Amino acid sequence: MIPNWLLQRAYLTPNRIALSFGDEQWTFQQLKEEAISIASKLRSIDLQEGDRIALLGASSPEMVFMIHGCLVAGLEIVMLNNRLTTEEIAWQLTDSEAKVWIIADEFQNLTAQNENAFMTFSMIQTLPIKESHFTEYWEPSRTITIMYTSGTTGFPKGVRQTADNHTSSALSSVLNLGLDENDCWLCTMPLFHISGFSILVRSVLYGMEVRLYEKFDAQSIAEEICRGTVTRISVVATGLQRILSEMEKVDSVADPMFRTVLAGGGPIPNDYLERSTLRQLPVLQTYGMTETSSQTATLSAEDALRKSGSAGKPLFFNRIKIADGKRAGEIGEVLVAGPHVTPGYIGHASSKSSLVDGWLQTGDLGYIDDEGYLYIVDRRSDLIISGGENIYPAEIENILASHPRVLEAGVCGQEDKEWGSVPVAFVVVDTDLSAEELDEFCRHRLASYKVPKRFYFVKQLPRNASNKLLRRTLKTWLDSDEK
Ligand code: ATP
Ligand code: MG
Repeated sequence: MIPNWLLQRAYLTPNRIALSFGDEQWTFQQLKEEAISIASKLRSIDLQEGDRIALLGASSPEMVFMIHGCLVAGLEIVMLNNRLTTEEIAWQLTDSEAKVWIIADEFQNLTAQNENAFMTFSMIQTLPIKESHFTEYWEPSRTITIMYTSGTTGFPKGVRQTADNHTSSALSSVLNLGLDENDCWLCTMPLFHISGFSILVRSVLYGMEVRLYEKFDAQSIAEEICRGTVTRISVVATGLQRILSEMEKVDSVADPMFRTVLAGGGPIPNDYLERSTLRQLPVLQTYGMTETSSQTATLSAEDALRKSGSAGKPLFFNRIKIADGKRAGEIGEVLVAGPHVTPGYIGHASSKSSLVDGWLQTGDLGYIDDEGYLYIVDRRSDLIISGGENIYPAEIENILASHPRVLEAGVCGQEDKEWGSVPVAFVVVDTDLSAEELDEFCRHRLASYKVPKRFYFVKQLPRNASNKLLRRTLKTWLDSDEK
């Protein structure tokens, strides 16, 4: 059995700081009182243990209270991405069969053309309290959250994440990163995504402070890192690049109290890792997905420099192998197993089996080196096969991103009569840069068959609500006027 996280934490260390936001802060006891109040109000509208609700809000203390309120009440929470369109939200509400949709007041306009029953945060606050008993122990297999995948390769899939999945994930993480009494995790990742939600889980399990940011304020974040007022942060590549630029602007370095930048969600260009070293910023690459309730593998601090570019080894309870019995260094599909792996999908994807012979098929390509370190190469669906050679778009994007005047780059395959497919690049640049200059830059760094055959200069790259590059949209741009 797994203890109801917040009830147990508030019992163990009621006076420790649980959450801070701007100048305000809350202890675990205060967080528990907020959560119990919400949970008791939700009981008054007949939301019982095991009922499924959908939740949409921003990164605010009220959202944290609401998440914990729903957890204490034993509800299954469908976490909705607040950057989705109204149509996408309507689709996920239907697909997940959520009984009630709980929505932060500032997003109420999203309910306008939607037929689903909803309650705003302030409507819930006005409900009467119904004295209730809340389960103190959870079955490990109970569903805690349902999160939709980012929809990078296709339609988002609703993933079931159990009490055991989240708990194992948080425990594996701390066995790798360690824990200090003064640890404080700066959270700028969305709470509806596993990257942000997992920070809340670690907080209640470890008794650790979360410093919550509403928006990604690169300057303030860089200042906190340099002052040592926070010790950990999770970022994706673009966030890391923005923090580095701020630190470079004022030529500052990270405070020795600051311990870890956990960088994942997609490939991290090597150039960013090198710049981080100059700023004394310890960046650990991590590999995870919605289906694995956060990290599967992470580089440990002592390997960060020696194994730069690797996503490390599987965390303590997890296993990773490359499909088809590939040997060290050979690229194939990454397969994952462990207590953090989802038992399956819901809704339209429920018939899709997530496991084959007990292993999760990730759809990612990678290899394990002769020392057992994992390297993620790219997504299988984005592989370009050109004249029989495999080309990985991420490798080319990585090189382009290291050009000082390239802000971001996306690569996809374009049909070609002679080669079957050839790589082409979409680039966002900050000042004038010609295709010839980029071609020259790539020729020095890439085998000639990998050098993009065409460069398209665009204002921005297509990204989904999780800010991930949509290479499948780049392909459609090739046939349209967008380029
Ligand atoms: P969908 O499954 O709907 O296409 P998605 O896979 O982008 O969307 P997420 O679960 O948010 O949805 O993202 C997980 C994916 O992110 C991984 O499968 C992998 O492709 C990518 N990823 C995560 N960490 C890394 C990393 N360190 N390096 C490269 N890619 C990574
Ligand atoms: Mg996926």
